[in-house]
Amino acid sequence: MKKSINDIQVKGKRVLVRCDFNVPLIDGKISDDNRIVAALPTLKKLIADGGRLVLCSHLGKPKNGPEAKFSLAPVAQRLSEKLGIQVKFLEDDNVVSDKVREGVNALKDGEVALLQNTRFRAEESKNGEAFSKDLATLADIFVNDAFGSAHRAHCSTVGVAALVSESAVGYLMEKELKFLGEAVDKPARPFVAILGGLKVSDKIGVINALLEKVDKLIIGGAMAYTFFRAQGYNTGTSIVEEDRIDYAKEMIQKAKDKGVELFLPIDTMITKEFKADAEWQCVDADKIPDGWQGLDIGTKTQELFTNALQGAKTVIWNGPMGVFEFEVFAQGTLSLAKAMANLDATTIIGGGDSAAAVIQLGFADKMSHISTGGGASLEFLEGKALPGVTAVQAK
Ligand code: AMP
Repeated sequence: MKKSINDIQVKGKRVLVRCDFNVPLIDGKISDDNRIVAALPTLKKLIADGGRLVLCSHLGKPKNGPEAKFSLAPVAQRLSEKLGIQVKFLEDDNVVSDKVREGVNALKDGEVALLQNTRFRAEESKNGEAFSKDLATLADIFVNDAFGSAHRAHCSTVGVAALVSESAVGYLMEKELKFLGEAVDKPARPFVAILGGLKVSDKIGVINALLEKVDKLIIGGAMAYTFFRAQGYNTGTSIVEEDRIDYAKEMIQKAKDKGVELFLPIDTMITKEFKADAEWQCVDADKIPDGWQGLDIGTKTQELFTNALQGAKTVIWNGPMGVFEFEVFAQGTLSLAKAMANLDATTIIGGGDSAAAVIQLGFADKMSHISTGGGASLEFLEGKALPGVTAVQAK
């Protein structure tokens, strides 16, 4: 067990909290503040306990150092509104400097400061020592609450943890580890996994690992067409990873060997053009004509998958069933979200696009847990240790 924020005394101490404030921005405005909201329980607890909070996070992928469009200024503003207190934005392109240190040392108990985007420092993603040391000068205690970045060994997630004498995980991290950990280690059965999204290659490890654990595996999304080819079907212009067809065959065989029921689409929505108002048809899985592309599971598959979920006690879902961004191809994803919402089961949505889809389609409050980390939750389900968690002190 990792030390939690319930196990530490923060009064009067400088607490460096690694948050996941990697929010989507449109024209400089935050278009979705779920990640900020998800950080609030930890921050409120530390404020109430009299900690002097120094928050840090990355935002986007600045390529060549500091870039104004990746500034955390909009986050400081939104966070101030959410917390109801002024969050001091210690804006500095170098993230840590003498001036920033002065700002941190001026904090009183229960006050909050936010550093500039950690990726403004080139060392961040290389876990370079200089930046880890700089961060450590701001902290008596380190708290990692950024589950979405826990699969990355960066200065602000791993490097700094080794240099600060006390460390703990925040409530969000704990909640993520609890839901995902229980699902993987001792799931209530039947245990069903649903995988979709774009690429088989992104989910190779997770398909393989889940086949060791689940009772049923449902595969949809663009990934399914590689499995169609593995079954000898024509796939038209659908997205197929040619170099993964053999792997898909192996997984079909592995499911048989392990006694896992594997559900693949039996029909599919097809179109000639990738656009929102494209003409479409629903055809059987082995009847995709040349020149047509599959963009969603079909209606018979919706029923098949919905039935496969009945009676499930644990469900994990990662990756949409189709191009849910276009209403006409969102129906497969919608039908599964509905089916999951009606189950008497632990239902877990693994971050990224599946979380966005479930939120967009209005089912967020019907799920047991929506993970804030797409990549991190996949690596966790694969059975990999998350460096950002490993780096935190044990109880
Ligand atoms: P991922 O990030 O791997 O979860 O993939 C999510 C993306 O896959 C979403 O943007 C979907 O629009 C896209 N997607 C799902 N199904 C298909 C499909 N059949 N063809 C093309 N893209 C798809």
